[in-house]
Amino acid sequence: MSVGLYIHIPFCRKKCFYCDFFSIESPLIGKMEIEADEYVGSLISQIEHIKQVETIYIGGGTPTVLPDESLENLLGALEKFSAIEQTIEANPESLSLKKLELFRKARINRLSLGLQSSNDALLKKLGRVHNFETFCRAFFLARKAGFENINVDLIYGHPSQTLEDWHKDLNKVLELAPEHISLYPLTVEAGTVFAKNSVKTDDNLQRLMYEKACQLLDKKYAHYEISNWAVEAKESKHNLNYWRGGKYFGVGAGAAGYMDGVRYKNVADIKDYIAKIKDRKSPISEQENIDPPTQAFEKIMLGLRLLNEGVAIKSFDGFRRDTLERFLQNGVLIDDKGFIKIAPNFVFVANSIILEFMP
Ligand code: SF4
Repeated sequence: MSVGLYIHIPFCRKKCFYCDFFSIESPLIGKMEIEADEYVGSLISQIEHIKQVETIYIGGGTPTVLPDESLENLLGALEKFSAIEQTIEANPESLSLKKLELFRKARINRLSLGLQSSNDALLKKLGRVHNFETFCRAFFLARKAGFENINVDLIYGHPSQTLEDWHKDLNKVLELAPEHISLYPLTVEAGTVFAKNSVKTDDNLQRLMYEKACQLLDKKYAHYEISNWAVEAKESKHNLNYWRGGKYFGVGAGAAGYMDGVRYKNVADIKDYIAKIKDRKSPISEQENIDPPTQAFEKIMLGLRLLNEGVAIKSFDGFRRDTLERFLQNGVLIDDKGFIKIAPNFVFVANSIILEFMP
């Protein structure tokens, strides 16, 4: 099984209204350059201890808000790995041809672009700083720079969004023909602007939107994971490793990793993270040994997300067999030659199905 490396860049130009990821607004470029430089130096120190990985994912936050020089230094530290897939997340407003060329030179072969919506009014309501025109410019610039593996992220289910708006979003993305599409239902997380403003989502509308997406995207893409579609051979290898229960290193403030049955998380504070690395102390702030019943549950939980692969029936041995039988009998789950998969009509409620297997 392959080993992944996740690198967290916790800076964003502006905090989106729905976002509860660990990231801070860094509008003061001068101040940010000093902090970013120090932060990248700490990332590089952590990376020096890692020998080999097969996939790399630079996420955030917004990695492309880093100054070119900091990005160049970070990418230089990754050259020692012979990774088969290297992804970087980017937001349209902070992407330039210079940055894209830097990525290509550093063998970054996958770009994940945050679009969220093609509707400028909705983008404003989500607190995004780009509009659709800026996104298209960034997308075509990426093609010009030679990117042949681009993911586009979309969010659905803001209370002001209609099914027709969503249909338009999907069609506009299909016209662009990215190799990979990720769709996420809007969720209102504690501590966000949306939570403060008591924004409410509608499960029923989100379900209709998801069904609409399946109808449209399934014609051209393989629906390989609950929220992800890809053309042939362009599934995210890094994320497949997560869903298959593989090992991965987490580098950076707030990043999580999983190694040999131990899950860990680094301290979610930039200054603290930098100080710990400087003092040659471990940046890990939380660590959990995953016991065998939890490992068995996680295997089922993650495996059922993989709609084409499913989970080997032997994973259920001595573990929630009654629940499995019940779901097989009522058609919620399917036994496909010894692999258990979620039936297409029940994919939208996958999370509640998975919860029934909890130890
Ligand atoms: S750009 Fe991404 S990480 Fe940054 S605030 Fe928005 S959603 Fe969060």
